[in-house]
Amino acid sequence: MKSVYSVVPGPKHKFPDHPESPERLDLLNLAAIDGLEKATCSPAKIDDIARVHTNRMIEQLEMDCRQGPAIIDHAPTYVTRESYQIALDAAGACLDVTRAVLRRDARNAFAIVRPPGHHAEPDRPMGFCLFNNAAIAALDAVAMGVERVMVVDYDAHHGNGTQKAFWNNPRAGYFSTHQENIYPGSGWMEEAPQARGRIANFPLPAYSGDASFNIIFEQALTPLLHAFKPGLIVVSAGFDAHWRDPLTSLGLSTHGYHSISKKLVELAGELCQGQIVFVLEGGYDPHNVANGVHAVFHAMTGSEPTNVQDASGHAEPDISKRVQAFRKWHGL
Ligand SMILES: [Zn+2]
Repeated sequence: MKSVYSVVPGPKHKFPDHPESPERLDLLNLAAIDGLEKATCSPAKIDDIARVHTNRMIEQLEMDCRQGPAIIDHAPTYVTRESYQIALDAAGACLDVTRAVLRRDARNAFAIVRPPGHHAEPDRPMGFCLFNNAAIAALDAVAMGVERVMVVDYDAHHGNGTQKAFWNNPRAGYFSTHQENIYPGSGWMEEAPQARGRIANFPLPAYSGDASFNIIFEQALTPLLHAFKPGLIVVSAGFDAHWRDPLTSLGLSTHGYHSISKKLVELAGELCQGQIVFVLEGGYDPHNVANGVHAVFHAMTGSEPTNVQDASGHAEPDISKRVQAFRKWHGL
C-alpha cells in the first residue's frame, strides 16, 4: 500500500509582511520518494466543517472573506477574498486523505496545507488559522465509526482550538508539546482536569530539543497512547519547533523531527493498524518546512532520511521532573 500526500499551497491566501505566507512552502521538494503518491482532493463541505465549527462562525468567515482583505484578530489573522475557498480546500485535503487511510486505500498520509488550523476554535478563527483542519479530520473519522482518535500536536504553539473542540468529547484525545509562555498562552499541564488521560499538555521550557522530545515521546506519550488506545492518530505537524524558527525558541533539528515522526508511525503500527495522518500546521522558515516535510515522508515510508545536519547548539533544560508530573497527573 502507498503512502499518500495532498498539497494546498494557497498562493492567494497572503498578506503583506505576514509570516504565514505561501513562501513557507517554496522550498518543498515533492519529487518522487519510493512508496509515496500524490492524492487529488476536493473541498470540504459545510457539514464537514460543522463537525467542529458553529454555523455562525462559518457564515461570518465567509462574509469577512467576501469583504477582504482584512485582519480579523490581534494575532494577527488575515483573510483575503480567496481565503474562504482555500480554507475549504485545505480542510478537504485533510479529510480526503484521512478517509483514504481509513478505507485502507492508503497506508498513511500527509496533508500539506495552508492556512494552518490548530488555533481555530469552534466559534472563531484565531492565530493565523481559519478552519481547524486536524480536528475536522479527526471528528470525521469518529463519525465514520473510529472508536477513539488522538491528535498529537508537536507544533511549537499550543493547539487551543483542537483542545476546545475536544473538551467534552470522550472519543477525541489531544496531546500537545509546546513552548510555555508564548502564544496563545494556554496548554498548562493541569488545564483539563475533567479529561485526564485524554487531554494532555506538555509545556516546554525554551531550548527543549531532540533529547527532550525523545524522552517525552518515550516516557509520556507512549504510555498515554497505550492507555487511550486510539484507532487513528492525527498529527498536527508544525515545523516551528525547529531551533531556527524565527517566531519561537524550541530546539528540534530535522533529525529530531524524523525521530519523533518515526516514533508516531511505530505507535500507530502498534495501536491502530498503522493508521496515521500528518497535517501541516506552522513553521515559518521555508528550509525547516521543506526539511521537516521530507523527514515525515521518510518516517511514513520507513526509508532512510537524507542526512541533514542542523542540530541546535544550545544545551537542553532538564525536563525529567515534568515527565514525572505528567505521568502522575494522567495516572500512567
Ligand atoms: Zn505554531
